[in-house]
Order: sequence, then C-alpha cells, then structure tokens
Amino acid sequence: MTASQTASGDQSLDAADLDALRALGHRMIDDAVDELASLRETGAWRPMPDAVRAAWSGPLPRVPENAASVYDEYRRLIAPYATGNRHPGFMGWVHGGGTFVGALAEFLAGALNANLGGRDHAPVACERQVIAWAAEMLGFPPDASGLLVTGTSIANLIAVLVARTDAIGADSRARGLRDVPLVAYASVAAHGCVPRALDMAGIGSDALRMVPCDAQGALRLDALQAMIADDLQAGLAPFLVVGTAGSVDSGAIDHLDELATLCARHDLWFHVDAAYGAIAMLSHRYRPRLAGIERADSVAFDFHKWAQVPYDAGCIVVRDARAHRAAFARPATYLSRTARGLAAGDPWPCDFGPDLSRGFRALKVWMTLKTYGGNRLGQVVDRCCDVARHLAARIDAEPLLLLAAPVGLNIVCFRFTPGDDAMQAAIAEDVQLSGIAAPSTTVIDGRVVIRAAIVNHRTTERDVDALVDATLLFAQRRTEAARA
Ligand SMILES: *Cc1c(COP(=O)(O)O)cnc(C)c1O
Repeated sequence: MTASQTASGDQSLDAADLDALRALGHRMIDDAVDELASLRETGAWRPMPDAVRAAWSGPLPRVPENAASVYDEYRRLIAPYATGNRHPGFMGWVHGGGTFVGALAEFLAGALNANLGGRDHAPVACERQVIAWAAEMLGFPPDASGLLVTGTSIANLIAVLVARTDAIGADSRARGLRDVPLVAYASVAAHGCVPRALDMAGIGSDALRMVPCDAQGALRLDALQAMIADDLQAGLAPFLVVGTAGSVDSGAIDHLDELATLCARHDLWFHVDAAYGAIAMLSHRYRPRLAGIERADSVAFDFHKWAQVPYDAGCIVVRDARAHRAAFARPATYLSRTARGLAAGDPWPCDFGPDLSRGFRALKVWMTLKTYGGNRLGQVVDRCCDVARHLAARIDAEPLLLLAAPVGLNIVCFRFTPGDDAMQAAIAEDVQLSGIAAPSTTVIDGRVVIRAAIVNHRTTERDVDALVDATLLFAQRRTEAARA
C-alpha cells in the first residue's frame, strides 16, 4: 500500500485519492496561518451581508460535492463572518482569543476520533491528567474528580446536581426531590446560568436566593447569614452556596475564604463559579485574590476563556470524587467494566456527568498547557489586567466618559455621560459595526453601560485606546445628529 491509497474498503467514505485530501489539508493550514498573520487588517467583527445570510437556507444536500469546493464555500460564507473573538479589538462578553496550537489539537482530536465516554485508552488518561492539573491549579487534593464539558454553564449544572444528591441522598435520583424545600444562595452578580442550573436540576430558580453585593461587587456575608437564618427558621433546607470568582458584569470576586468558613459551619455545599477567574490562579499577582477557592467543594471554570483554548472547553472539578460519582454513575450491562481489555479503567468519565459519548476536548487543553506552560498563561492574565487598567485610566481622563464599576480584574464598564441608556447601546453597536472594536453592554445599578472584557492575549493598550477613540467619535456623531 502506498500513502496515496486508503486502507479502507471500496464502500468507505475515505477518499480514493489521499493526495488531494492532503493538499486540501495543507491549504487549510496555510490559509489559517495567513489569517492569523493578517488578523489586525480585518475588522473585529463584520455583519453578514444579506446575500450570505440568504445562503443559509438550502435543502439537505443529496449528492456529493468536492471537499475542496465545500472548503471554498466555508471561506466565502463562514470564515469572514464569525464572532471575531480572535481579533485583538474583540472585547465583548468574555471570550478567549484562541491559539493556533489549540486549533491544531482540534484537528488532531478530530482525526483520531476518540470517544471519551469511557474505556481504557490514552485519550481518557490525557483527560484525567488535565483534570489533575486543574485540581493542582485550584489547590484541590490530587484525588479530586472532574470532567471537561462544553462550558461553565454545564459545569455549574453538574455542581448543582452533585450538591443536591449529596444533600438529600443518592436515592433522590430515583424518587426525585419529594418536596424537600432546598434553597441555595448566590450573589446578585452571579451569572444567569446559576439560576438556570437550579431550574434544570428540578429545584427551581425561585429556590436561589440572590444575596446583595457590597460596593466592590462581592456577596455580602452579613446578608447571606441573615438569609440562611431566616430560611432555617422557616423550615427550609439550605444546601448550597455559589460563590463567584470573576463576575461577568464587573469582574468582582466574592470573599471566598469567608464563604468557605460559613459553608463549613452550616454544612452547605460550597461551589465556586470561576468561569474565567480560575485561570488567575496561574498568576502570582492575582492568585492571592482567590484565596479560599482551594476550600470549595467544587469549582466550575472554562479553559476557553482566559486560558485561550479554542471553544469549547469548560471544566468541573469536585473535591470528593465519591460524591461526584454518586450523582451520575448508573449500572448498565452494555457499559460493564472489566479488569483488563478495552472495558477496563473504571471509573469512566460517563460516571461523572450526563454525557456518554464525549469528544477529545482534553487534547487541546493538554497541548495548550504544555506548549505555553502555566506561568505563561498566568502572564496573559496579568497582561489583560494591565490593559484593562490602562483603559480605566483613559476613561478616567476623558471628561465625557465615566467608569461605572470598580475595575478589579479585566472588565471595564463605562458610560458616555451625556447619553441615556439607549445612547450607550447605540454607541456599542456603532463601534461593533465599524470593526474597530467589539465591546458589549450590560446593566450596572440599573443603567446600561458599555463593557469591555480584556480576555484576548492579543489585546494591547493600542486596541483599548482605539475603543475609547471610537466611542467618543460615534458618541459625538450621535450627539450632533440629535441636535441637527
Ligand atoms: C462565561 C461565564 C459563564 C458561562 O460559561 P460558558 O462557558 O459560557 O457556559 C458562567 N459564569 C461566569 C462568571 C462567566 O463569565
């Protein structure tokens, strides 16, 4: 057999001519490297033209098409109109910038086509290694369990399910909640996926008490104490506190150590949503700010945000592997384990979460962590926070702009002071459409603000200066238009 022939039978989907496939692959790599090299020359985001949008309503293709022409279509219809979060001017929401090494790992994972639901093979060992590294980063014990998932939304859901099962017993998995009046607590700054996790867990989002925050945006411990006391008095069953390490609105960090103490005192599960903040554990400068995270029962975070791993790569880590497993493991004859052979390696990843078939997300995380090293990723965190501070200083110096929240880490919220709420939103859209930068908006203290989250390792002072300049330019244009 030569390298240009496939090993498969005539009826397989493998191309007869592997050289054409190889050439196509090389072209894709070349194009992707070129895109990376010219990233700054393209806009931070560009809207889909109508003709492109219209192309997305075709019928199911029934006949084959050459893979190279399908790729051409990708180049025309998809690549130019993506989220834009690779671009250094992208500051909307909380998006990682990705790396090329991560992209190559995605390709390798696809080529290998491993299924990480279970069984005894190196990709599962690789994921276990990544989870052990995550535990080490968080200061968790080495026997902590965990799983790579799509994102923190699902990682938070898994934490709620583990906490619930731990609180009311594994038999609740069969009999349901049976009116146990569970209640949980998180700050008003908690991400929206936290109430949704309670809703999806069948507990109901009404069972999540929203605790007020202090001036720094951290959960107020006195208010939490009072709520727990009231709920106990009322015969309810507090079971979970969700702390936030890096709030989505302003980057605030809860008092994690005090929360851990309070949870220990009341025998509550302490979960931390550290979606992007967890990676600050790799920064010598910011690690002390997360003190107490190592005492949590579980932590949810993303590798696809500050660690720059390509989407998607969320992670749940649970201190007590037995509690974690008790929430998900379920015997099935077709999934029985053996002492040797491919069915060895108990427990399997499918014992720790809702998915059975699972892709090889771990490879891109493993390759990213090895290629750059934890110290280098910690420096990315430092650098993003420096750029955010530069942006905050610029805003402070501009008479027409006002910082809307303290800048704790990497998120800067501000307003164009002469404008109303609609004006802030309109300016953000103007800036996005210009391609100069892509900020998003949120609401702080009841008012719409423009929000820049510096998460991308490519973003520099020059990019946030461009955001400020563009904001002032479009604000001025709108003000003039309103006067005319
Ligand atoms: C981004 C984010 C989430 C959601 O994470 P996904 O990976 O998008 O599911 C949850 N909490 C916080 C604080 C976040 O920043």
